Amino acid sequence: MQAPIRRYCSCELMWGVMEFITRRYQATVHGSATANDTWLEVLMFVSLIAITQPIALLGSNALCNWLMPAQHNAWANLPWWAMAGLLLIGDDLTQYLWHRASHTPLLWPLHRAHHSAAYMSVRITYRNNFFYYLMMPGLWIGGVAVYLVSARSTRRTW
Ligand SMILES: [Zn+2]
Repeated sequence: MQAPIRRYCSCELMWGVMEFITRRYQATVHGSATANDTWLEVLMFVSLIAITQPIALLGSNALCNWLMPAQHNAWANLPWWAMAGLLLIGDDLTQYLWHRASHTPLLWPLHRAHHSAAYMSVRITYRNNFFYYLMMPGLWIGGVAVYLVSARSTRRTW
């Protein structure tokens, strides 16, 4: 569970640093962001990391243990390129499709906050409704992927 959280935090930090170094942050966010914007963006980022991702990853792990226990670690010996392909389909493609679907009238209420900011910044990356992320297929598929490729806890890799 630590790897996806670390990935999100490091990507967010990298984009934030780049935005600050290029002075884009100062040019677009300063003077435009209100205290409510800041509160919303911090709250949604923290809830994604602290609540939604653990629910999706632990929930999919529990479902996998229940529905397909023999598949635990079944993909651990796949070559890296196969895992990269599965990641592209399971995470990037489903995230793209989820984003597209969130622009339909049914899901738009969960996503409109992402497009309501008066500025374009890395800050708005996670500016979505709590249920937008809870229902995001990529998070649940990521949990299944971790179940399928993770090493058993008793195995040492170093
Ligand atoms: Zn959108």
